[in-house]
Amino acid sequence: MHVTVLGKSPSWQDAAGACSGYLVEEDGFKLLLDCGNGVFSKLRRICDYVDVDAVVISHLHADHFLDLVPYSYALSYAPRQQPVPVAGWPGTDDPARPELYVPSGATGVFRAIVGCWGNDDLIENAFRLHEYSASDELGLGPLRIRFCEVPHYTVTYAVELSSNGSRFTFGADCSPNRQLVQFARDTDVLMIEATLPRPERTGVRGHLTPGEAGEHGRLAGARKLVLTHYSDEMDREWARAQAVGSYGGPVELAEEGAVYTV
Ligand SMILES: [Zn+2]
Ligand SMILES: [Zn+2]
Repeated sequence: MHVTVLGKSPSWQDAAGACSGYLVEEDGFKLLLDCGNGVFSKLRRICDYVDVDAVVISHLHADHFLDLVPYSYALSYAPRQQPVPVAGWPGTDDPARPELYVPSGATGVFRAIVGCWGNDDLIENAFRLHEYSASDELGLGPLRIRFCEVPHYTVTYAVELSSNGSRFTFGADCSPNRQLVQFARDTDVLMIEATLPRPERTGVRGHLTPGEAGEHGRLAGARKLVLTHYSDEMDREWARAQAVGSYGGPVELAEEGAVYTV
């Protein structure tokens, strides 16, 4: 399984960057994990968007799903997707319509958002929309998908993708918690958020510091730890040192374009 980082920014993009998005490929099957703002453009640099088989969204924060909007417009209005010849494209009776897996209740949220400008069914028409819940296990092509609800400001799922006994665990966004540690136990790669330079001043937790991310990796026994969801305004080497100190081993920092083979 190959995991390409399309975007790793937190809720505001790095300069020339994108928010949460990872392309997972196995045996020619392509799965997009999260589709935050900026991700559709990054996806197009390395892969034809009509070739994506499935999209999985971890939670309904803008930085994890907002580019479903331009992606839906492409699937709906691109000349190549039309049933009749147009602009040099031959016309198709089988336009691409990737599977889209979203947390329960997302359909209504999408309708409310794109409904603001009268496009209520934009996303559900562009994709084959499925809502999932925590207990679901999906078989998508050669990949098996499991979910684990983690504490955050809205209903949020960590996601495990596995194939041939290899496991990639994405922690999504979360406050310090035991659920992710248990879910990621002995995983091959734990991709974990390291959003905060210090814990939230309000005392209401929703994210991790790099030191806390390292601690989760150590407690889970993750074989490899990759920090993500950090800003280009955070000092990388400070973040790495914090995480190494609590993880007890080398730590990588996700960068756009990086490919992890699991
Ligand atoms: Zn986020
Ligand atoms: Zn979030």
